Amino acid sequence: MYKLTCRDIGIDCDFVVENSEKKIICDSFNLHTTAKHNRVIPMRKVLGTIEKKNKEQHNERKTNNIDESETLKLEKWSLGRRHFS
Ligand SMILES: [Zn+2]
Repeated sequence: MYKLTCRDIGIDCDFVVENSEKKIICDSFNLHTTAKHNRVIPMRKVLGTIEKKNKEQHNERKTNNIDESETLKLEKWSLGRRHFS
């Protein structure tokens, strides 16, 4: 699912489009921007902004990787155990 808001394009407005098809987001978004802001956003810019947003979300997921810290805990636990016995 992709999401795009007017703010992402640099317009101070809370309009949000959500869809799994980038093309549909682009069409819906332009229906809104032409009607409400009298602006046409080039498809290339819409797609570029969606791509950029998705990359940011992907990076967030990477830094919050729980698996890594869990593996580290397990390693420490088994090391401590070995030392104890
Ligand atoms: Zn708007």
